[in-house]
Amino acid sequence: MEVEKLIIIGSGPAGYTAAVYAARAELSPLLFEGQPTGGQLMLTTEVENYPGFPMGIQGPELMDLFRKQAERFGTRMFAADVSAVDFSAMPFVVTSGGQTYRAEAVIVATGASAMWLGVPGEKEYQGRGVSACATCDGFFFKGKEIAVVGGGDSAMEEATFLTKFASKVTVIVRKDTLRASKIMQERATANPKISFIWNTDVKEVVGDGQRITGLTLWNNKTNEQSFFATEGLFLAIGHKPNTDLFKGQLDIDEKGYVRCQTGSTKTGVPGVFAAGDVADHVYRQAVTAAGTGCMAALDAERWLAHRA
Ligand code: NDP
Repeated sequence: MEVEKLIIIGSGPAGYTAAVYAARAELSPLLFEGQPTGGQLMLTTEVENYPGFPMGIQGPELMDLFRKQAERFGTRMFAADVSAVDFSAMPFVVTSGGQTYRAEAVIVATGASAMWLGVPGEKEYQGRGVSACATCDGFFFKGKEIAVVGGGDSAMEEATFLTKFASKVTVIVRKDTLRASKIMQERATANPKISFIWNTDVKEVVGDGQRITGLTLWNNKTNEQSFFATEGLFLAIGHKPNTDLFKGQLDIDEKGYVRCQTGSTKTGVPGVFAAGDVADHVYRQAVTAAGTGCMAALDAERWLAHRA
């Protein structure tokens, strides 16, 4: 069976950027895009912070451009999920659609997924008032009253960030305590624009068919249900890196992220590299994912050259 030089798994900014660099280095990469393709940017509307697009660009359109650029240099793409990998011996084995593929090097760029509440109305109003990314969408809520769900560092950071735009931010917490670090809690509680609702779950996202108008809340201590009017809902209840496929194959940290050597995309398995959100719980931006995708392709290219 033919052995590929490089297989890339994942089709967000990291995977496609790795493909652009690898294809231009004549590694003829094979890219498994997964289903759905394109990663988290496919779920956003306007992207205003990706450099090079001064007027902004729609998330799906940006990913389409990434894809075309990777294709232009000869990346071969499969819009299919990888169902198994075997990194225990070389060449590495990647299984997709019941077929096995072998490669000398692999780049893992499967990303992470924001956690969602799973309540009625949430998906319907995604991009129309409901967001899981304050950095991406906060700007659109200038002067508005909005809500944030979560009690961790992300929720505190996002709530604080959102006060730059919103007139009022209400943090809805399901317990009567925060999980966030003390310094983040202090910063949020000291902010006059932020208030808290405790012991409360969001039961439903309510809208007028166009945009969100409010939330149905349930107080889990008093059992009372109420309506909370809001023009925006930001979810900050955590992210889940898409690493189930790599358990037992790669070194994965306690939060589920692939562990890389500091300052590089090298995983613990020589020849396997990781890029983008799958290995990054700190920055999680399209531009940083693209940057590490580039790094992974360069690392893979050098690794292949030195072992040849
Ligand atoms: P965490 O897992 O730390 O916190 C998630 C929060 O969401 C918890 O308060 C949790 O509640 C709540 N939650 C989870 N599911 C639901 C639900 N269905 N309904 C309502 N609330 C829910 O995730 P974060 O994204 O906040 O942080 C992830 C990691 O990243 C942490 O290690 C954090 O320290 C780090 N981080 C650091 C930052 C910094 O230092 N600047 C900024 C952002 C993140 P409960 O407590 O009840 O379980």
